[in-house]
Amino acid sequence: MEELKTKVLIIGSGPAGYTAGIYASRANLKPIVVEGPQPGGQLTQTTEIENFPGYPSGVQGIQMMQDLRNQAERFGTRIVSRLITKVDFSKRPFICHDDRGDRYEAETVIIATGATAKYLGLDDEVKYNGLGVSACATCDGFFYRNRTVAVVGGGDTACEEALYLSTICKKVYMVVRKDYLRASTVMQTRVKEKENIEILFLCNVTGLYGEDGVEGAHVVRNLGTDKEEKFDISIDGFFLAIGHTPNTEVFKDYIELNKEGYIITAAPGTATNVEGVFAAGDCADPIYRQAITSAGTGCRAAMDAERFLMDNDEV
Ligand code: NDP
Repeated sequence: MEELKTKVLIIGSGPAGYTAGIYASRANLKPIVVEGPQPGGQLTQTTEIENFPGYPSGVQGIQMMQDLRNQAERFGTRIVSRLITKVDFSKRPFICHDDRGDRYEAETVIIATGATAKYLGLDDEVKYNGLGVSACATCDGFFYRNRTVAVVGGGDTACEEALYLSTICKKVYMVVRKDYLRASTVMQTRVKEKENIEILFLCNVTGLYGEDGVEGAHVVRNLGTDKEEKFDISIDGFFLAIGHTPNTEVFKDYIELNKEGYIITAAPGTATNVEGVFAAGDCADPIYRQAITSAGTGCRAAMDAERFLMDNDEV
């Protein structure tokens, strides 16, 4: 078992975690980033990123995360490929343990564990991952210009994604399992007014089909009732918008979370309810969820941690 001490422990390695690493290491705080179960975060699951400023020709998600990692390491960030499984934030220094049993003693902690998009759990979602299945219209919608896509879900995210896609695509199906949308009234109105959005109420997708990528979805209306009706829709892209799960479970005994599990921070900063613990990126952001906004909060969290250490005469 190794014992590590640091002024700044960064938990998570998406754009927020690595950016916090860049800023904290440039401030000579010798941070440690514990990468977590998916080094590089959600962006390593996507293909090309075209909306991150500074990459005019686009960049592959994996490449961008490798660039951020290299940049953090260049200034002295230590990166550990482990998963934090236990924390004690009851007093400073904070104590964390990873899945190998290593112990971290940290003056400050930045939580940047991200969120995980929910999927329906179909085998075909795995089969066509990167071949027409996506959980981020803003990231991948552009690739479906003048094509037909489906968005699953009836909440605000699904409406937002459908509206966004409707400006790019020829046609957008919304597949909604209830007979109503859960989204806010204003979003419902906008969606219903769009001529190229067709809402399929009381419908569930049970599978996808296609040769080299998604060409269609198997849909069932009134699933499990005597009015059950099966049909297929021809689509080129399949977007999940059935919610995200913030990766905050391990912190819940200490950190104040909202009812969906997102970390509550004291806007405009990144402070949590525990002094010396900060949060950045999607784990504290149910709304924007973009690489650039995550990177921005990672920067703020590192600056907040540095200021906290200065105020406590620890730098
Ligand atoms: P929500 O939980 O609000 O909605 C999820 C939707 O997905 C619901 O329609 C739900 O159906 C459906 N769903 C869930 N699981 C399944 C499944 N297995 N199969 C089929 N459908 C499923 O999540 P959102 O991400 O839309 O929103 C999360 C929060 O963020 C909300 O509070 C929302 O208001 C907020 N938000 C605000 C925005 C804004 O203000 N601009 C933008 C985006 C989100 P059912 O209704 O049947 O449960």
